[in-house]
Amino acid sequence: MSKISGGCLCGALRYTSSAEPVMVAICHCTDCQKQSGSAFSVNVGVPEASIEMNGDTIRGYAVTGTSGQAVTRYFCTNCGGPTHTVPEAFQGLAVIKAGTLDDSSWVKPGVQIWCDSAQPWGVISDDIQKAPGNPG
Ligand SMILES: [Zn+2]
Ligand SMILES: [Zn+2]
Repeated sequence: MSKISGGCLCGALRYTSSAEPVMVAICHCTDCQKQSGSAFSVNVGVPEASIEMNGDTIRGYAVTGTSGQAVTRYFCTNCGGPTHTVPEAFQGLAVIKAGTLDDSSWVKPGVQIWCDSAQPWGVISDDIQKAPGNPG
């Protein structure tokens, strides 16, 4: 059974992916702060093509990232809960919001990104590698 399955807050949106996560990143960008309502988001990267979404309440909200390419954040129109984000600059990679996984106990962040906009009240251990902006 795939370890990547989850959904939004109300359960109208459900997803699975059979892929092994490519990376797990803590993102301190201000957009993640706004969307999550918290100091950072925890993102599990998998190939976008591996994600199977179910449910018709999905909607994407796109902004132009610092790369000049679109960053589309998907969420449920019923409960407002996010599921995943597709940053075009990541070339085929989508990031799943770790907190939406049915079982997130295995999640182990390997890197922190956008540390330049990290909040003093959302500090993560220095043991996890830091990048000032996007991963290199
Ligand atoms: Zn929902
Ligand atoms: Zn972010």
